[in-house]
Amino acid sequence: MPLQESNPLLDIQFRIPFDRIRAEHVEPAIEELLRDARAKLEALAADTGPPTFENTMLAYEAITERLEYAMGIVRHLESVATYPEIRAALNAVQPSVSAFQSSILLHEGLWKTVQRYARMEEAQNLTGTRLRFLKKTMDDFRRQGAELDAAGKARLAQIDVELSTLTMRFSEHVLDSTHAFELVIADESKLRGLPPSAIAAARQSAVTKGVPGWRFTLQAPSYVALMTHLDDAGIRREVYHAYSVRATSGEFDNREIVTRVLELRREKARLLGFADFADLVIDDRMAHKGERAQEFLDNLRVKTEPYFAAENRALQEFRRSLEGPDAAVIEPWDVGYYAEKQRAALYDFDEEALRPYFPLQRVVEGMFTIFGRVFGIVVEAQSGVPVWDQQVKYYAIRDEAEGTLLGAFYADFYPRENKRGGAWMDAFLTGLPGIKPHLGLICGNLTPPLADRPALLTHREVETIFHEFGHLLHHSLSRVEVRSLAGTNVPWDFVELPSQIMENWCWERESLDLFARHYETGERIPEDLFVKMNRARTFRGANAQMRQLSFGVLDLMLHRKYSPLQDGDVMEYARRILQPFSPARLPPDYAMLAAFTHLFASPVGYGAGYYSYKWAEVLDADAFTRFRQSGVFSREVGMQFRENILAKGNSQDPAELYRSFMGRDPDLKALLVRSGLAEFQSVP
Ligand SMILES: [Zn+2]
Repeated sequence: MPLQESNPLLDIQFRIPFDRIRAEHVEPAIEELLRDARAKLEALAADTGPPTFENTMLAYEAITERLEYAMGIVRHLESVATYPEIRAALNAVQPSVSAFQSSILLHEGLWKTVQRYARMEEAQNLTGTRLRFLKKTMDDFRRQGAELDAAGKARLAQIDVELSTLTMRFSEHVLDSTHAFELVIADESKLRGLPPSAIAAARQSAVTKGVPGWRFTLQAPSYVALMTHLDDAGIRREVYHAYSVRATSGEFDNREIVTRVLELRREKARLLGFADFADLVIDDRMAHKGERAQEFLDNLRVKTEPYFAAENRALQEFRRSLEGPDAAVIEPWDVGYYAEKQRAALYDFDEEALRPYFPLQRVVEGMFTIFGRVFGIVVEAQSGVPVWDQQVKYYAIRDEAEGTLLGAFYADFYPRENKRGGAWMDAFLTGLPGIKPHLGLICGNLTPPLADRPALLTHREVETIFHEFGHLLHHSLSRVEVRSLAGTNVPWDFVELPSQIMENWCWERESLDLFARHYETGERIPEDLFVKMNRARTFRGANAQMRQLSFGVLDLMLHRKYSPLQDGDVMEYARRILQPFSPARLPPDYAMLAAFTHLFASPVGYGAGYYSYKWAEVLDADAFTRFRQSGVFSREVGMQFRENILAKGNSQDPAELYRSFMGRDPDLKALLVRSGLAEFQSVP
């Protein structure tokens, strides 16, 4: 087998041979690794010898290790160095890999083996990570219906099939109804208010479609530009309306799909022994119960409402200051428009003014210095390591005190035509404490350098690098013996704590002074600019927060309380729930729910999980107060964060991990202060 012997995807290697991996390796390697995984699975399921943690639980985890390693690399290459052959190869192997992966928890023999182990004395005496792993594995099987009778299993399978069909149709309808709308403006005078970049994009869109004039769509850049800047209120109203009734009529109607998905999710939860879908989804997350998540949102809402009312009054007054005492009441299609004018009037702050202070190389080195100091690590660049593109850099992370190699990572920061958009962190290899180092990556699409100028970032881009590096440290500083419980494999409502907390160092004078230096003069950010950026940060903070809360509350109400018999039409029900969170009166046919892809574009998705966004913000703002108190470079607090959070992955309940770092449960106050919503709140 000469081809397979030289196939670079077959063996797990810490130094991934990116210089040798080609599309033609993918199919033979994945076929071989699937065979290997199937053989391991069948052997484990058929094993009748005395079960131990090693020969059962660790063997269970090892079934897919090689396959996941190879698939991780292939998926990665498809997203950062894609070409038609690698995409075709990925598409060719993806279905059989997915089918195999979802068959594991449905394997009855394997379930029996795990149960047999669970009855052994060794299993009864497990503690810590090993106990958690056994419990979590059994829960995973049960959630796939392992304990149901034959009829229950069959019903569960039907529900899952119907859910995937319906949710796929839901997202197609949203896409198609979004694309179905266009607004072509022929009269240039109607474009008044729009920035030149938006006008140019609309012109380009018209040219591409072969129509005269300027073409606008419901895609985010076009829609947001219209709502924020266009002077013509009639056009804003028309486009707003089109946006808010997407997927509610004709061939792309999602209204019945929503009701049916909710019904199926409820049935699935009941079948598996949960009160509702929220309890099913949240059971193994930090919040544990739907009710807890709901209380959390309600609490934040009460504390936000007075500021929300004040902001809305101020906006109406601002409109009167422009248009006289008889100015009309602000409608939903006016909010963004007048808010932008108000922002410009209140703050003389242009984000572009910060760019010269954020040359990428200096930002990255400063970030390594800061977190090196805080977490007791040393990050150093290494050359001569194979990479997928010449722009990619490779770094090693060592423990400062012991000198040991904790992990290494690739950093790929600039956009390319063969790379997907956005910023992300991913893992290639999860190491073992004291034995094998971790391997990961961070990717971004940041402002690239120009011929005569280094890459100068926006402040938001700087936050993005810190954010992704936070995920990377969560992976790289992990000291958990079970791979699937290590690093970033934590519940959704906890995973953004290590990443979001790092963004706080982008707002502190002391830490900014370490890396934010003018690329030509070396000067730090001038005080007045620093003050302005902090003031602009909290502009209409209550509106931003109420918007997120509204989605979280709607999500939980739908998945906990909604009943078609009692509550009637689901679109109308959603509108009633959303109204108190909206700065303006919602139109009677308002139906954002029909296009709420977070909740309905996949069988679970963010369903009953939307609260996690705010939950994680509370955690990061609250946890950062310890650094605030002891100094943003405090090694003592940093090492406690490293030991209690970054090193622990999912080896303990995240609520316990949080308590072990903070000495108490999370407190909302720090987020309220950071968002400018704490002025009138009494300090407990
Ligand atoms: Zn993140």
